[in-house]
Amino acid sequence: MGLLSRRALFRRVGGGVGAAVAGGAVALASAPPAGASEVRKAPAGAVGMLYDATKCIGCKACVAECAKVNDLTPDTAPSNGLWQMPADLDVRTKNVIKLYVDEATGESSFVKRQCMHCVDPSCVSGCPFNALHKEPEQGIVAWDSTRCIGCRYCEVACPFEIPKFEWQAFNPKIVKCELCRHILDRDGQPGCTRVCPTGAVIYGGRAALLAEAKQRVVDRPGVYHEGRVYGEHEAGGTQVLYLSHLPFEKLGLPTLSDRALPAGTRHLGGPLGKLVALPIVLYAVFLRFFRRNWKVHEEEVARLKAERGLEEQL
Ligand code: SF4
Ligand code: SF4
Ligand code: SF4
Repeated sequence: MGLLSRRALFRRVGGGVGAAVAGGAVALASAPPAGASEVRKAPAGAVGMLYDATKCIGCKACVAECAKVNDLTPDTAPSNGLWQMPADLDVRTKNVIKLYVDEATGESSFVKRQCMHCVDPSCVSGCPFNALHKEPEQGIVAWDSTRCIGCRYCEVACPFEIPKFEWQAFNPKIVKCELCRHILDRDGQPGCTRVCPTGAVIYGGRAALLAEAKQRVVDRPGVYHEGRVYGEHEAGGTQVLYLSHLPFEKLGLPTLSDRALPAGTRHLGGPLGKLVALPIVLYAVFLRFFRRNWKVHEEEVARLKAERGLEEQL
């Protein structure tokens, strides 16, 4: 077989795009309505985490283990590569420990940030193709790469600014904590809770964690801010819960009403959202087919170069 001509290459690409467009149309027609699988109350088997800022020593063992179990390249910037020090969540960081210091009073606290696994997540209702979905049994908010078109509606919809988009990648992904669902069966808990040396972050059923948090409030009167558990009600409730001695907003946790937020984003998952997303769908499938065909082309070139080199030597 000779070198792929440019015409043949573009024919392949064109054919691919045609099929992709047709496929995209099918996907548009067949994708279940966003929100169809929404769970508005935490399922009976809902799991989550309880983070108690008063117990956190800022060791960042959870950050390192999160990167390890999720196969993420550790974010060592701006150090010289000796230790991980991500400043915030990013495409290499699903879990971060931040430090809050009040210069005036000297008050300080660490805070762990990752996806909150909302009971009624607006990222799910905002996703036009159900790439983000809430698992019905445990309530984990998970991401499906085969459905994601990279429209970034989830990023816009999330009140906690959690999902991150791989801008620099050729085939970008949405990156966020998925509660280590890929290792829960094996390890019985996420990486971050398994390595935390002080028990500042623990894993369990949401109901049990909420009861534990309320018991701590009773056991340590006056310690916890407003004697309140953040996530019990905020934005309709979250499966990651917080206790803190400082006001939650100082730790970067937004002040939210008890009302679930998806009502404001459901239109993104409706027909209008899909329509607006169509150019992005076409662009994404074009890139995917172009990349696949270009790879075939390059392999062909390499093979022929090797063959010709051999001929010249004979
Ligand atoms: S915190 Fe954001 S990304 Fe996580 S479930 Fe809630 S809305 Fe979705
Ligand atoms: S549950 Fe897993 S992905 Fe989420 S913060 Fe913990 S280690 Fe990272
Ligand atoms: S491992 Fe535990 S104590 Fe260390 S930073 Fe993470 S939550 Fe805090």
